[in-house]
Order: sequence, then C-alpha cells, then structure tokens
Amino acid sequence: MNIILLGPPGAGKGTQAKRIVEKYGLVQLSTGDMLRAAVANQTEIGLRAKDIMERGDLVPDEVVVGIIAERIDEPDCGNGFILDGFPRTVAQAEALGDLLHKRGRKIDHVIQLEVDDEALVGRIEQRAKETGGERKDDNADTLRSRLAVYHESTAPLLPFYAAKNALKKVDGMASMDDVAVAIDKILV
Ligand code: ADP
Repeated sequence: MNIILLGPPGAGKGTQAKRIVEKYGLVQLSTGDMLRAAVANQTEIGLRAKDIMERGDLVPDEVVVGIIAERIDEPDCGNGFILDGFPRTVAQAEALGDLLHKRGRKIDHVIQLEVDDEALVGRIEQRAKETGGERKDDNADTLRSRLAVYHESTAPLLPFYAAKNALKKVDGMASMDDVAVAIDKILV
C-alpha cells in the first residue's frame, strides 16, 4: 500500500505518518526529514537546500524527485510507503506518477488533512517551543511564507488528485485520535 498525506505545514502529517508506519508496516518518506538530514550532513544537496528551507521556499523539483526516486527503490519500501511532504507541486506529482508507473507501482490513497490557517500558526508556535527551536523554519515569519507557498504551489494538487478520483479528505482540526480513526477508515 502506497499513501500520500497532503496538507499545510503543521497539519499533523508527520504525526499521522508515524502512526500509520507502526500500524501498517509501511515506510515513512518525509522529504522534509531527508532534506534536514542532508543539511546536517552538509551533503551537496544539503548545501543547496539550506537557505531555501530557512526561507520557507521550495527546494527545486528535480532535487526532491531525485531523492524520492532513489529511496523508493530500496528494499524496505517493497511493502509500501507513506509520502509526507511530497509531492508539493503538480510537477512533482506528475514525476511521481511517471516513476511509479515505470516500476509497475501506484498510489493507493491520497489523504488530505484539512486545517484552518489560523490554527496552524498556533500549532507551529507550540512545536517550536516543544523542540526548543530546533527547526530554523518554525517561526512566525517563515511560517507565513510556507503557508503562502502551500496555497500557491501545493494546493493545486487537491484538484489534481480529485480529478483522478484519488482524493480523500479528513478533518485535521479534530483530535489526533479522531484524525487517526478517520484515516484508518480510509485505509481498511
Ligand atoms: P512542513 O512542516 O512545512 O510541512 P517539511 O518538513 O515537510 O515541513 O519541509 C520543510 C522544508 O523542506 C520545506 O519548507 C521546503 O523548503 C523543503 N521541502 C520539503 N519537501 C519538499 C518538496 N517535496 N519539495 C520542495 N521542497 C521541499
């Protein structure tokens, strides 16, 4: 089973992805986590991505598509994966469709976590406090750019997947447990 989780920054994608990994034995593929690891290790990709991420902009499509293309060929992805933070543009979604098609694989569920923008600001501020400001992009200014980028570049994925009859919506304003129940109903 291969799943995409869609939703704005702070929608709870990472939290739900981790739970789904445990329950369904899938691998979580978070391009945000992979890019943060690349920055920490000062790899070529990390050096390229660092400033872009700190501004809250998008890393170029070919970079993230390349990362995902390599990663899904690893043996641990054989049982399926959950994409969290990818795709983030229609071009990435098209590239993903192509590369899965070439491998005889497909996306089974695209789940959108719906959350109001106002609620996100509070959630990200909370996360910044809990993690002691570990993520440089978790601050009010950068969050505003990340939200703007989400609405401009990522939200078009909603009609893109809806047109393929693949999109399922979940109320991301509900409690973490209720969101989990709603997602499980989709996945059974
Ligand atoms: P968020 O909590 O904002 O959803 P992520 O951890 O998914 O954050 O991503 C953090 C940053 O990493 C993004 O703001 C962006 O700069 C970069 N990034 C992550 N995934 C992608 C992607 N698929 N395409 C382009 N940039 C990405």
